[in-house]
Amino acid sequence: MAENNATDITAWIETKIIDFVENSPENSLKNDAKEPAWDSPLVGFSRGDDSLFDELKNDIGPFYWTPAELFNLAYPERKVSTNELAVISWILPQTLTTRKAHRRETSHPSENWSRSRLHGENFNELLRSQVVEWLHEAEIAAVAPLNMPQWEWQESQRYGYASNWSERHAAYVAGLGTFGLSDGLITPVGKAMRCGSVVARMPTAPAKRPYTKYNAYCLFYSQGTCGKCINRCPAEAISDSGHDKKRCAAYIKEVTSPYVEKSLGEAVSSCGLCQVKIPCETGIPKVSGNHAAAAPE
Ligand code: SF4
Ligand code: SF4
Repeated sequence: MAENNATDITAWIETKIIDFVENSPENSLKNDAKEPAWDSPLVGFSRGDDSLFDELKNDIGPFYWTPAELFNLAYPERKVSTNELAVISWILPQTLTTRKAHRRETSHPSENWSRSRLHGENFNELLRSQVVEWLHEAEIAAVAPLNMPQWEWQESQRYGYASNWSERHAAYVAGLGTFGLSDGLITPVGKAMRCGSVVARMPTAPAKRPYTKYNAYCLFYSQGTCGKCINRCPAEAISDSGHDKKRCAAYIKEVTSPYVEKSLGEAVSSCGLCQVKIPCETGIPKVSGNHAAAAPE
């Protein structure tokens, strides 16, 4: 990478991420059909001095990291200022095959979905490490927050159980999506996805967000319609009041995780029934009159 301006570096890392997801043999469900775990990713960037990071900290709790706080934990010897940092975020969309298999399920996760939760998330971890490695090779200091030993879950007074860095919130700041009734992030490639991020000391332009409200893409909040994810949840963890995290976690712990352990040999936190067969499964749902766009069958 000869050039060193913001556009060149972000374009370079975006190309590397897309190429890795599209071509790595590790992007695999590790099933007999040798299917990939993820479709081609979306990549977005935000700057460490984005005021949304401070707003998230104020909202979620003092334990929630800003990019500078986590970076200075990882690199205590070189204090950075917020505007020197970039947050690189990506969205890994579920494949059509996985989404179709998952749409047929009503109480337990499809095997494909559980494989993506297990092997696909392992690939996501590899991607986080790989992005850090590429940046280090280019002499750019970088860290994947979820790979840090200090990354943990704590109790948020307002939201209950919450981690000190959220991949979905980083993607939201980067302009990649807004939150839905079920707490999932609705992105241009839908809500059936997983995401990741890396914080790096590199230049980037301020994020361009095509929204101003944190829940702008959800038809329930923007139009007062839809609510289709409510009926997709077998645990009754989604309602007009939003997502009941405790109920959701209990269902996964007591029902889906032991179920997956029997088939895959590992107790994976797999469920995500609320992420398919809904109008926001594969994209930002379109508004048609006063009615939500149909959910895919
Ligand atoms: S299914 Fe409808 S109500 Fe639920 S998150 Fe998507 S748009 Fe919002
Ligand atoms: S992940 Fe499963 S239990 Fe949790 S809200 Fe979605 S459908 Fe319900």
